[in-house]
Amino acid sequence: MKIIVCLKQVPNTNEVKIDSKTGTMIREGVPSIINPDDKNALEAALQLKEEKGASITLLTMGPPQADYALREALAMGADRAILLTDRAFAGADTWATSYTLAQAVKKIGQFDIIFCGRQAIDGDTAQVGPELAEHLDIPQVTYVKKILAVEKDKVVVERALEDGYEVVEAQLPVLLTAVKELNTPRYPSAYGIVAAFDEKEVETWTAETIGGNPEKLGLKGSPTQVKRSFAPKAKEAGVIIKGTAKEAVQVLRQELLAKHVL
Ligand SMILES: Cc1cc2nc3c(=O)[nH]c(=O)nc-3n(C[C@H](O)[C@H](O)[C@H](O)COP(=O)(O)OP(=O)(O)OC[C@H]3O[C@@H](n4cnc5c(N)ncnc54)[C@H](O)[C@@H]3O)c2cc1C
Repeated sequence: MKIIVCLKQVPNTNEVKIDSKTGTMIREGVPSIINPDDKNALEAALQLKEEKGASITLLTMGPPQADYALREALAMGADRAILLTDRAFAGADTWATSYTLAQAVKKIGQFDIIFCGRQAIDGDTAQVGPELAEHLDIPQVTYVKKILAVEKDKVVVERALEDGYEVVEAQLPVLLTAVKELNTPRYPSAYGIVAAFDEKEVETWTAETIGGNPEKLGLKGSPTQVKRSFAPKAKEAGVIIKGTAKEAVQVLRQELLAKHVL
């Protein structure tokens, strides 16, 4: 079985700040991590590798420093890592990102399953997985919370809904997007870390390597534009009215009268 895992290196968004003057994200000094859902995607692939035998290829589009995220994922047990990095990819929206990933998948060749995370914690759109499936013209199942069966030509999975789940069967090759309920990602072993950082290779692919239409890459190939980014202002803290219910109602009534709400 051949599995591709798409993963994105993201800033640890708990620590991200927006420059109020330029409206751009301040990336300097912000630690980067593997997008959390993508670790669930990788763990699912690793479990299939252990159960059925599989080769796992990692694919990421990003700046050269995304090499670190790929090595971390190699340390967890993936077999091959490809970094798509080129000035021509800069400024890509989700459509251009998924087009670029699709071109790379076509170059990789035959595969059975592509795993993506449901959503990246920085861009937050949850669009790249579904768009990638569309570019490749293959079935997709999003929000996968449990894998029930993987057979020669199909998968059966539980797909999370707001108030429950549904069981979905899809033909291979298929694209699945993982949610965190799917599993608990493993930690890399000490041996895995040494091998990934000292011995294994991360392949670097450019626009030339993947081919396709250069007009569909990066900013040129992006139909959406970011007009403005800003950090929402913190809301004022609420007021807790103490006392019995009757006393609290009295105080609240006085406050509302004073503000001419009543
Ligand atoms: C006009 C415009 C310009 C932009 N310019 C830039 C820019 O210059 N630099 C920049 O960093 N961002 C830029 N972005 C943001 C960029 O488009 C998104 O970060 C990217 O397309 C992924 O979208 P997302 O974060 O919403 O991912 P989601 O759709 O939420 O991600 C879902 C899943 O798709 C996979 N995935 C997503 N992105 C990647 C990736 N890069 N590689 C591999 N797998 C992936 C992962 O499995 C992930 O869990 C720009 C966006 C717009 C609209």
